[in-house]
Amino acid sequence: MRNKNTIAKKLIPAVLVMIVVIIMIELFHRPDVLFIVENTWQQKSLSAEMKKVNFNKNILKPVAVLDIKKGKTAVIYNSTLSLVNAEYPIGEELVFKLVDYKDTGVLMDESVVDNYAKLSAEVEKHTGDHLFVMSHYRNDQVQKALYEQDKTKAALPGASEHQTGLALDVYVSNYAGAGFLKSSAGQFVNKNCWKYGFIIRYPLFKKHITGIRFEPWHIRYVGLPHSEIIYKKGLTLEEYIKGLELGSYYKFKNYYISRQQGESLLIPSNFTGIVVSPDNTGCYIITGRIT
Ligand SMILES: [Zn+2]
Repeated sequence: MRNKNTIAKKLIPAVLVMIVVIIMIELFHRPDVLFIVENTWQQKSLSAEMKKVNFNKNILKPVAVLDIKKGKTAVIYNSTLSLVNAEYPIGEELVFKLVDYKDTGVLMDESVVDNYAKLSAEVEKHTGDHLFVMSHYRNDQVQKALYEQDKTKAALPGASEHQTGLALDVYVSNYAGAGFLKSSAGQFVNKNCWKYGFIIRYPLFKKHITGIRFEPWHIRYVGLPHSEIIYKKGLTLEEYIKGLELGSYYKFKNYYISRQQGESLLIPSNFTGIVVSPDNTGCYIITGRIT
């Protein structure tokens, strides 16, 4: 009897190790798992250094937010950097201009159109797959209905990015939802969408920050250079926006970025291509260049 117990005690750990090994072998045969491991590893070696810069007070000109919103200045006002989640539902300051994408019935904000066209063309060029949109803009009623159907899966009305026209759920033939990452198109999107101004809005292991589990199919437009910084630093949109110190100016490549608060914003007079977006937390993010 004692002998049997001793054998059993020795066998149990060995069997457990075997099971773990089999599971690991199975997992590492999955293209999505392999991609995640490889891409996470590669992403760690990337960097996107943002240098704080000070501008001479003489060139910093106050520009009234109201004038920017009314289109009285050369500044483009959009909502590409707005944070929309359960903590910050869509506020009155956010503006969205919906466009029917190539007459397909897919609605997206006008800032997204050209960039999505470029991304989908690149996906097709590199993988041969045509990118489709499963879910695009949703109005309040649709979001309410989805929320009532399944409160665990759909976001609260007003807290879904799909109500902004800046987010798209994409897929390719045979690979949608969680399976999207098993396709080369899904992997291409996850690795390269930042080049076209998009981010994977709900990354793996960031649910404690975003409130939403990993969604490799949900892309959100934020624009360059923000998408590049977010991807290369491995951040969420929450971390990126809140990490921008109020009133400071940051330089990244030939872009300048500043998060400010108040009724007027201080913008250097030699800036070109200026875009201002409310961040939906009560501040504004200015993006500009000096050419
Ligand atoms: Zn989505």
